[in-house]
Amino acid sequence: MKFDTAYCLSLDEKLSIYDVRDLNFDETAAFDSDKDSFLCPNDDCRAAFAAGNVLGTFNGKNVNYLRTPHFKNLPSTRHIEGCRYASHKATAGETEDGREENFPSEFVLTRRQYERKAAIQGATDVIPQAPAKEPSRISNTSHSASETTPDKTSVFAHPVECYVSNIDNKDKLKGMPLKIAEQTATYWAFFKKIEYLQDNKGLIYWGRIKAIKDYTSSFRIDFEKKVWLDKKPYSVNVYLNKKLIENYRKRKAFLEQIKAAVDSERPLYCFFYGVTPELKQVPSKKNPEQTFGVFSADIQNLDHLLIREAPGLEEK
Ligand SMILES: [Zn+2]
Repeated sequence: MKFDTAYCLSLDEKLSIYDVRDLNFDETAAFDSDKDSFLCPNDDCRAAFAAGNVLGTFNGKNVNYLRTPHFKNLPSTRHIEGCRYASHKATAGETEDGREENFPSEFVLTRRQYERKAAIQGATDVIPQAPAKEPSRISNTSHSASETTPDKTSVFAHPVECYVSNIDNKDKLKGMPLKIAEQTATYWAFFKKIEYLQDNKGLIYWGRIKAIKDYTSSFRIDFEKKVWLDKKPYSVNVYLNKKLIENYRKRKAFLEQIKAAVDSERPLYCFFYGVTPELKQVPSKKNPEQTFGVFSADIQNLDHLLIREAPGLEEK
């Protein structure tokens, strides 16, 4: 049993590792997973131990990670008998860590918001209280199950990791449902290779990056594969407006990521949701009077775009 979520002491919420990553990189949120404590998400289990009985966060802060992020038991982590998270070994090997097994059934387009509990926020001013136990009991009554369910996510990296890390298991991807906005499909159907973008609108498109161009007011991501229309091949690209990046709450992490990608010699992939590149006529550089066709789109929401390595996608 893998950890789908862990209980975050400072936020008094159950978070997925993707929520943790999102918060770590969010410059508008005062959050640092290294300074926080993550405890077993099982309420009964957590209540049985002191707040020092924590879990580890693997890849919680690594911008360009290679292996699936996850919570893990530390050698010192204890669980009550019968806790379903107890079997998760402290010395998890490659095979256990290699996949994301918690498939969210819905990708929510609006970002999850967190409310810090006043009792914890002001904790420095008040007499130290019994940690963990008090907040956890409050949380049980003030949150509905649907709010803390790992079934939904608003972090794009989560469904993408599910797809990428399970790419060798087509049957699994074909069996897992995913809902985005009003559309429901399987993971397999929702992720569309960029060269087939004409098949359907409103999907998650992905493809290997050919080049990333750094222009004055935007970045342009060129895809390797072309789209065929009337027996003619057309290039595909997406534009990222630099103003969008400047105002992005995860600006630093995003710039670090895209700058590493510009210089990277390793194969990189781009995943995005929310826009479908359309055929446009653009002026030719050599012959400004001439135009040529290209499938292009402007990314509207950086939360719904991801550039990453994706070993295993190569031959698929
Ligand atoms: Zn437990």
